[in-house]
Amino acid sequence: MSILEVKNLNLGFNCECGFRQALYDVTFSLRRGKMSALVGESGSGKTISAMSILKLLPKTAVITGGQILFNGEDILKLGAREIQKVRGAKIALIPQDPMTSLNPLYTVGDQLLEVLKIHQNLEGKEAYKKAVEAFDMVQIPCAEARMKSYPHEFSGGMKQRAIIAMALACNAEILIADEPTTALDVTIQAQIMSLLKEIKTQMETAILLITHDLALVGENADEVSVMYAGRIVEKAQAKEFFQTPNHPYSAALLNAIPSNKTERLETIIGHPPSIQQIINGCKFHPRCKYCMDICTQEIPPMYTVGKNHYSACFLNK
Ligand code: SF4
Repeated sequence: MSILEVKNLNLGFNCECGFRQALYDVTFSLRRGKMSALVGESGSGKTISAMSILKLLPKTAVITGGQILFNGEDILKLGAREIQKVRGAKIALIPQDPMTSLNPLYTVGDQLLEVLKIHQNLEGKEAYKKAVEAFDMVQIPCAEARMKSYPHEFSGGMKQRAIIAMALACNAEILIADEPTTALDVTIQAQIMSLLKEIKTQMETAILLITHDLALVGENADEVSVMYAGRIVEKAQAKEFFQTPNHPYSAALLNAIPSNKTERLETIIGHPPSIQQIINGCKFHPRCKYCMDICTQEIPPMYTVGKNHYSACFLNK
């Protein structure tokens, strides 16, 4: 069952050169107990799509259409106070750099207690017990003693665990993990991903994984949406996506992942377009080796190419 549905989200920015559209009809959903990945290169629109869910957008951003339904309620219609109740409590962000969420001047325990006070109305012994439990849940060793530590006394992986503990303590229903392991070394990266998988299974949390790393997606996600230049170009169950990618961009991304096979890795020629660049038709056409006349003139619709598998490419016409 979908807990969150992003429907036809259109968003742009007011720049010096005028209004520039950044997201086009972005549509995807999150389900309880599942990890969905939003994959794409930098500037593809994946982070801005995720930040729209939290209404954490730059002042120049303008949402021009669409809905974001959380348990059936449109988040985009919520006022500042109402969204504050949702953000951090029901929908929590695990950022790339945990220091953006932790205050270096307060102990990690005090910050967790503050979160419990604001979002759960808990104080005193009850809050303390819940905080220690949350630290235990994310496997922070010597949880009680660690409550007194400052962020600089935590390693990168431990800081990320503390952020996850804050979300769990508030019983967040959705975790948005924005490149959550980029700043961590490979072993710690695997530990954090395995913790997230445990949480989604045990607590039925829906997780949105934002990443450019397809290997991470292959090992962890249940569903994948690929973004290119502000559009979702392919959507599928992870297993099917990795076995039979349909969109030429997805196929090219997968061919660029190192594997044990002996074939040569392919690179994708050119660069993704900037928000200022106007490209008619399929935005991938300047880089696509299958480009046809129609691709330069019309925007490909989403074609159904399998069970719960969709691809925006004219090769499926
Ligand atoms: Fe390539 Fe055309 Fe498909 Fe776009 S629509 S990915 S240009 S074949």
